[in-house]
Amino acid sequence: MDCIFCRIIAREVPSTTVYEDGQVVAFRDINPQAPTHILVIPRRHIPSLADLTEADEPLAGHMVIVANKLARQEGIAERGYRVSISCGKEGKQAVPHLHLHLLGGRRLTNELG
Ligand code: AMP
Ligand code: ZN
Repeated sequence: MDCIFCRIIAREVPSTTVYEDGQVVAFRDINPQAPTHILVIPRRHIPSLADLTEADEPLAGHMVIVANKLARQEGIAERGYRVSISCGKEGKQAVPHLHLHLLGGRRLTNELG
């Protein structure tokens, strides 16, 4: 298995896990861009957002709801935060295992790139 996020799920690579359930794992980004920077990933290896199908609607919704819960847990829900998913080359996706970024704890800029 050469996917770094699959290896995190398998606990072959250490991570700061903040949440996990049967469908997803959430851990702190190794190179945080904000005081809170958490990645929410599906346990199943899905290469990118573009690979989601209609059958994955519950999973996609769950990832967003988990991000909301974590925002509350991190104490940033009231102040506001950002959820983003990079997809593909021009979307600047670096790790080819679907992941949602939860960013907050500072005033984010309008720059999405
Ligand atoms: P993206 O550019 O959307 O594909 O984001 C990939 C993210 O994964 C980046 O923010 C990296 O800092 C993060 N990342 C890469 N390797 C690890 C790791 N071993 N543990 C935690 N985060 C990681
Ligand atoms: Zn993977």
